[in-house]
Amino acid sequence: MLQYICVPVGALETNCYIVFDDKNQGFVVDPGGSPDRIISAIIQHDLNITHVLLTHAHFDHFLAAKEIIDYTGAKLYVPKGDLDFLSDPSKSLIRFAHSSEDVSLKADEVLEDGDEIKVGELDVKVLSTPGHTPGSSCFVCGSLLLSGDTLFAGSIGRTDFPGGDYSEIQRSLEKISDLEGDYTVLPGHGPQTTLDEERKGNPYMNSNGFDY
Ligand SMILES: [Zn+2]
Repeated sequence: MLQYICVPVGALETNCYIVFDDKNQGFVVDPGGSPDRIISAIIQHDLNITHVLLTHAHFDHFLAAKEIIDYTGAKLYVPKGDLDFLSDPSKSLIRFAHSSEDVSLKADEVLEDGDEIKVGELDVKVLSTPGHTPGSSCFVCGSLLLSGDTLFAGSIGRTDFPGGDYSEIQRSLEKISDLEGDYTVLPGHGPQTTLDEERKGNPYMNSNGFDY
């Protein structure tokens, strides 16, 4: 059975998710801050974390990655299109974090569309969904869709940061909408939702939506 924990982290209340199987093997998505709280959750549930995945490489999704990797020994997986963000403060937006720490991170593995990652008994499929950033990706795991800053409950991610592209995010939202069946959507910020709810009610997700 698939289980998950949501830990809101950092000043921007990024949702860090910890997803794990029956044998407590799991992965962390977007450890964007508050490393102590993420590590507490890992200890509390006695988890063996082997993978840290980023939906994209904005600072509020990776600021605690180093601490989590140091603590767990997990490998870091970063979408290909955002690799250069890790070393470019104007792209990762880290200059807004007022952080003097050196958070230079190196990806152990690069994620591309269609990649499948095995974590314990879990299969994670990478869905490339550019637009918020060039590398923005969603992760499909069982009935969960971890949507990063591409899809929020009733809204979508901004496309006015470096590398953002509104027409690309529109195509990505179509791609998500075209997935078969329903999913629990776990966004990078704000409350969880379902894909059916968003197909029905999210104005950006259907052709009657806003056009800029
Ligand atoms: Zn972002």
